Amino acid sequence: MKQKAILVIYLISVAFLSIAQSDRWQQKVDYIMNIDFDVTTHQFNGTQVLSYTNNSPDTLNNVFYHLYFNAFQPGSMMDLRSRNIKDPDSRVKDRISLLAKNEIGYLRPTELKHNGTSLSFQIAGTILEVDLVSPILPGSTANFEMKFNGQVPKQIRRSGRDNKEGVSYSMSQWYPKLCEYDYEGWHSNPYIAREFYGVWGDFDVKISIDPSFVVASTGYCQNPNEVGYGYEDEGVTVKRTKKKLTWHFVAPNVHDFVWAADPDYTHLKKQGPNGTMLHFFYQPDSITNTTWPKLPDITAKALEFMNRQYGVYPYKQFSVIQGGDGGMEYPMATLINGRGSMRGLVGVTIHEFFHNWYQGVLGSNESLYPWMDEGFTSYASAYTRQFLNNSTNDPLAGSYGGYYFIVESGKEEPLSSHSDHYNTNRAYSIAAYSKGAVTLGQLEYIMGKNVFDAAFLRYFNTWKFKHPNTTDFKRVMEKESGLELDWYFLDWIGTTRTIDYSIQSVINKENKTFITLERIGQMPMPVEVVVTYKDGKNEKYYIPLRVMRGTKPDDGEMPRKVFEDWPWTYPTYTFSIPGLADTIKTIEIDPSKRMADVDRSNNVIDIGEKEPTFE
Ligand SMILES: [Zn+2]
Repeated sequence: MKQKAILVIYLISVAFLSIAQSDRWQQKVDYIMNIDFDVTTHQFNGTQVLSYTNNSPDTLNNVFYHLYFNAFQPGSMMDLRSRNIKDPDSRVKDRISLLAKNEIGYLRPTELKHNGTSLSFQIAGTILEVDLVSPILPGSTANFEMKFNGQVPKQIRRSGRDNKEGVSYSMSQWYPKLCEYDYEGWHSNPYIAREFYGVWGDFDVKISIDPSFVVASTGYCQNPNEVGYGYEDEGVTVKRTKKKLTWHFVAPNVHDFVWAADPDYTHLKKQGPNGTMLHFFYQPDSITNTTWPKLPDITAKALEFMNRQYGVYPYKQFSVIQGGDGGMEYPMATLINGRGSMRGLVGVTIHEFFHNWYQGVLGSNESLYPWMDEGFTSYASAYTRQFLNNSTNDPLAGSYGGYYFIVESGKEEPLSSHSDHYNTNRAYSIAAYSKGAVTLGQLEYIMGKNVFDAAFLRYFNTWKFKHPNTTDFKRVMEKESGLELDWYFLDWIGTTRTIDYSIQSVINKENKTFITLERIGQMPMPVEVVVTYKDGKNEKYYIPLRVMRGTKPDDGEMPRKVFEDWPWTYPTYTFSIPGLADTIKTIEIDPSKRMADVDRSNNVIDIGEKEPTFE
């Protein structure tokens, strides 16, 4: 009995130990906000009660908040960056510098208390710097009470009033938002162009606004029968007065809260899989009336595939909202342009919905690892669109094409760059979206598609709500595949080294064919060669890279032979296959095209055209 008890205690402590080792502490926020909004001045007053739990082992002597709206003022960091970068975003250009006083955006805290004590603070552009009088100790919860007011900028980028499709208010990045503090320290990243990082917690938001406006938002509506506009239960008649209407939303475990408001919204609902209610808000016109009513069924069908293939969406609601200036992701919701083609509308909806997996739930620091959000989102949405279209086209062809284009241009920058620090917007977007997606396409090649699919799902389930970094992702890929992958991530993420393999020679000798491969590019890879014979048969010859310390499993598509691994410092590698070359039709390196070989012209030899060399 005693021994059993000791064993049980031992097993329990081992279990705890292993949880602790694979876990990473997270700070926690709980916001209660009351917003009084004036649709004539586009200004609002707000109160915010923030309970901030310090789960870190560190004592915090200061805190920082984002004040994103301050970016939309002449002379802001965003304005200067946009006016000085070589290829400015056409939505921004010099438009911030031209804003009049009543068109700029601002967020102004007027009072801040920490556990009842008033604090002084400093507004430094889009960041509020706060020195604490008493520190926040590890494991304690601090209460911050803030009063603030704001003005909604004329629509420039993402948020603002009167977007080009006529939506009155696109309210993203609209409230004082605590910056993230994680195992890497504070991330008080100024708002210059892009990418967001936040603390998870519960939001309780009340918005009082003119009663003619329909509000769409993150979170679950708490007073549907009071506000109506399609939120109300069936059969309920909503009484309206001329007084401001207060909308109440609650969002659990999210790192941001978006809302939009317009008097003309049509609101559609569709019950999606796994209890997720899908909401759609659009302004009816001759275009949207033909496209948006078809969107709910397609989104529901997509969600079933997304849940199955990429991990279960953890919320019971998602809203597709016309607003903003293009597609932009927020927890439980997206703002998208609504007047595009059906194909475009579906594409942007799926893309932005997927951000809830990679930006919303995994929440990697997008300033440091933008490719872990945009790239992964692009990858998963490409396969989902392929599923929806029942297509046999390569879903990643566009991503590979983008990557080859930027390599060819000579303007490529490493994926490890800070998302705001790229020299050009183009280098950023191709890196984050295209090369980010190719990162995964290439892992399919290195690990095998089935192993990769399992690993990618395991990554979501292992790291949800934990802000994974590149190494965390790499470790899941290694654990699932049994391969060592340092060499891949170091070169592919940290450098702009490229891949180029060629078939250097094909030589007949003693009734055998000797094939010599050459590594021309700086970056090494495992190499797969497919030989197609004149009788129609084909065979795969697989050469693992020695530093992988393993091989990928046989996919069973065709007979496969595994050769000795290739030590990467060797510039060439020769192997022989039985029979003379005149039985061979073609020899090709990686016909799957999943290896991002920058020069494919030397990947294939057509023996029909070329006389083999005899010795
Ligand atoms: Zn995106």
